[in-house]
Amino acid sequence: MTTQNKRFRRPRWHISQFKVEEAEGKVRFHDLFLPIALMRAIQEVGYEYASPIQAMTLPYALAGYDCIGKAQTGTGKTAAFLITVITDLLEHRLEEQYSGEPRSLILAPTRELALQIAEDATALTKFSRLKVVSAVGGMDLEKQQKQLAEQRCDILVATPGRLIDLMNRKSVFLDQIELLVIDEADRMLDMGFIPDIKTIVRAAPRNENRQTLMFSATFSPDILNLVDRWTNDPVRVEVEPKIKTSDDVEQHVYLVSADEKYQVLKRIVSEEEADRVMVFANRRDIVRELSEKLKSDGINCQVLSGEVPQNKRIRTLDGFKEGKFSVLVATDVAGRGIHIDGVSHVVNYTLPEDAEDYVHRIGRTGRAGKKGVSISFACEDDSFQIPAIEEYIKAKISVEQIPAAWVSDEAFI
Ligand code: AMP
Repeated sequence: MTTQNKRFRRPRWHISQFKVEEAEGKVRFHDLFLPIALMRAIQEVGYEYASPIQAMTLPYALAGYDCIGKAQTGTGKTAAFLITVITDLLEHRLEEQYSGEPRSLILAPTRELALQIAEDATALTKFSRLKVVSAVGGMDLEKQQKQLAEQRCDILVATPGRLIDLMNRKSVFLDQIELLVIDEADRMLDMGFIPDIKTIVRAAPRNENRQTLMFSATFSPDILNLVDRWTNDPVRVEVEPKIKTSDDVEQHVYLVSADEKYQVLKRIVSEEEADRVMVFANRRDIVRELSEKLKSDGINCQVLSGEVPQNKRIRTLDGFKEGKFSVLVATDVAGRGIHIDGVSHVVNYTLPEDAEDYVHRIGRTGRAGKKGVSISFACEDDSFQIPAIEEYIKAKISVEQIPAAWVSDEAFI
């Protein structure tokens, strides 16, 4: 290139601007020969080394193999499939592409999860021309139809029910799908979505004419049966569920009587360093009551539970992410599968009935290398849950007395 030509070139990003040292036993994204536009986005979202599920699946998935991954949220599975999809779409450009005909489809069981995936996809496609569209229930159908009709769609992220609806209305056609991702297959099964997914898969090209990636937290016989049906000789990858330990989450369990709980909670959420707090309780009515009490005590908080309408739930999540309020009171159903970065504290107002939920709950904090604090209240009604949690997390939980200042400081009680 002559010097003259060079003057007319836009300044471009160069991979040399993204420096990650080689490290023993770790895979850098640089080692995977990803498209430059994707590398730039990876740098911008702040990833340096591939997580174990990414390091294990990407070499196969990028080579075009079907993969099934046993992995839970928190392992980086979303980026594992998004990087595969984006790389493939960027490496095989189409001459012609029609609206309403997505090139790839990502199916997720809940709207929150689908929107989260779409958000991650948008971040990872920021420096490419790929278009991400989401089609989820509980949100404006006409707007989604219009979006599909008016623009290209490279990556469609959908929940099954809404997608079927859009297929029936002839707003979307799946016969050009090159890659299909089925996320959280076990939850799809639990939520009764399998008949819908069967319909969806039938509308897509045959197994051998598309690449399929499936993720599930368990590989039960039912899931393996679906894997057989929907994938073509897949590579199977498993990562241990990431049990959060004191490495990234400082865990406290306090012995508090049922009467003291609320006052202690108020004290915690009023602490200066508690700038983004998720409070979990086991039932919708407790969540509702707590939030009303906190509000009347001047704490800026919102609720995320099954009784909150879908649109409102999404606005609430966005508001929390944007820091519009500092306390989110949630039930487990609402708290699963979503990732919100920068949660400083998780409070278990009631201990979960299911030990797995304890891990899900405290996993909302201490994400992506940041430190977090989890505080659980054990009172006379729920401290019997502790042994099951200890067994599940394979660690001893030491139950502490509440710091004296929390009960003696008049200002907070
Ligand atoms: P997921 O398991 O997909 O829910 O991802 C969990 C969290 O890990 C999300 O906040 C991601 O942004 C983050 N994450 C994914 N991959 C990486 C990576 N390679 N390095 C650092 N953080 C990551």
